[in-house]
Amino acid sequence: MSELETPFPAPAHDHGGCVRAALDAAEEHCVRHGARLTALRRRVLELVWNGHAPVGAYALLDALKTEGHSAAPPTVYRALEFLIEQGLVHRVESLNAYVGCPRPEARHAAMLLLCTGCGRAAELDETQVGETLRRAADQQGFTVARQTIEVEGLCPDCRGQPRPS
Ligand SMILES: [Zn+2]
Ligand SMILES: [Zn+2]
Ligand SMILES: [Zn+2]
Repeated sequence: MSELETPFPAPAHDHGGCVRAALDAAEEHCVRHGARLTALRRRVLELVWNGHAPVGAYALLDALKTEGHSAAPPTVYRALEFLIEQGLVHRVESLNAYVGCPRPEARHAAMLLLCTGCGRAAELDETQVGETLRRAADQQGFTVARQTIEVEGLCPDCRGQPRPS
């Protein structure tokens, strides 16, 4: 079995399904944690999920403006902060952009794979790397408060590999 498992969805996948799943998960998550998913927060999350490529705050702001929201930058940043706190969105530090998290229920530090070909991001489902880093830092007297792992490279579609059907 050499089936390639990849967190990057096939280009022709039903992205509407990704968006619906993300919004459903967000609503469920907020109910369970007593957090308020306001209409604006929900819309910002939906816009972040516009695709699998990270989105910048100003692109979100522009999209909201064209919809007639009079959203000012602080409003958008506050909405993003809320979504990050809830684990629904990850901040991509190297791109100064945001990407939706497909599994907000399991709290985790995101390890992001960033494709320099198509601009998409996906999460590496791997917990050992983070733990190894934390342990190594701890052994050197350093307590990790926040961990950012971002890896650039090419996704299966951009490197021209056959993908599993
Ligand atoms: Zn999708
Ligand atoms: Zn995540
Ligand atoms: Zn790619």
